[in-house]
Amino acid sequence: MTLPTLLINTEPARWLPALRAAAPEMQFRPQAEIGDAADVDAILTWKVDPALIDALPNLRLLYAVGAGVDYLVDLARTRPQLQIARVVDDAVTGDVATLAVAGTLQWFRDLPAYAGQKQNELWHPLPVRSTADTTIGILGLGRIGRAIARAFQALGFRVCGWSRSIHRMEGVSTYTGSEGLHAMLPQAQVLVCALPLTAETEGIISAQVLGCLPPKSFFVNVGRGLHVDEVALQAALDSGRLAGAFLDVFAEEPLAPGHSFWLDARVQITPHVASRTRPSRVAPQIIDNLLRLRTGQPLLNLVRPEAGY
Ligand code: NDP
Repeated sequence: MTLPTLLINTEPARWLPALRAAAPEMQFRPQAEIGDAADVDAILTWKVDPALIDALPNLRLLYAVGAGVDYLVDLARTRPQLQIARVVDDAVTGDVATLAVAGTLQWFRDLPAYAGQKQNELWHPLPVRSTADTTIGILGLGRIGRAIARAFQALGFRVCGWSRSIHRMEGVSTYTGSEGLHAMLPQAQVLVCALPLTAETEGIISAQVLGCLPPKSFFVNVGRGLHVDEVALQAALDSGRLAGAFLDVFAEEPLAPGHSFWLDARVQITPHVASRTRPSRVAPQIIDNLLRLRTGQPLLNLVRPEAGY
């Protein structure tokens, strides 16, 4: 059997050693050493230039190195011979959930305010917010959204979640559709976005959606920057609808100098660091899928281009 060839289109110095260690007999090529383009069966990538895809006549698989595939689905829609798979790793899921919880808790327990007090040697207790009185609303109940839900549940928060199809999760109130979203939003003192970016979810955090939240609520985004109407988010902060926000992702990255989010003390920012896939953890699943590709078996962790995620 001829083994498939994988072109490494992203960070070859990180990916090649892990892949070669896991499958020394397989062909892994950094893009700089592409060789005969007709050999390439699959690309391991984050974002890929459409011109490269068109230059690979036998390409059948785009392999996303992260959970988000928004950069790839449009490419596959117009090229029906291409499948998209993504790496799936509980460590990534846990890392994103950790940041969503950390971002929420620092606000929830007034840690920035106490850090300011410490600088001035002030001892000034603020009212204690209780987890039992606080509802977390999670947009997206996929691998990441469910991990976020479980983490908040374990701390005693009330948790509700919204997804495209209805999910059953013990102790979590679940919603679907536009009606479900509008039933969930008024309860969500903290709204966490863990959605994929699709035509349906782009701009979902709009003035209208933010206006449905309870006054002085908190917004967390670990999804994608383009989920958010950033002007509407700033307006919701300025009007007091939102008490604060924790943002890991932005419409434009890096966030532009002088952007209002840099200047607003109520906005906490991390530079798209919720997770980073570790090649050694996911190399075996990539290799398994390449072998499936070659032997005509169904691939694992496939993306549905028609759904966009
Ligand atoms: P999944 O595909 O496992 O889950 C996506 C969830 O979103 C599902 O529950 C799905 O519903 C729901 N959803 C999709 N479209 C809609 C819609 N139109 N209306 C309502 N719900 C919808 O993805 P993951 O949980 O693995 O990842 C989610 C996203 O997190 C990624 O796409 C990426 O954008 C982001 N991410 C960010 C990272 C960061 O560094 N900040 C790192 C990793 C991921 P259903 O269950 O019904 O299909």
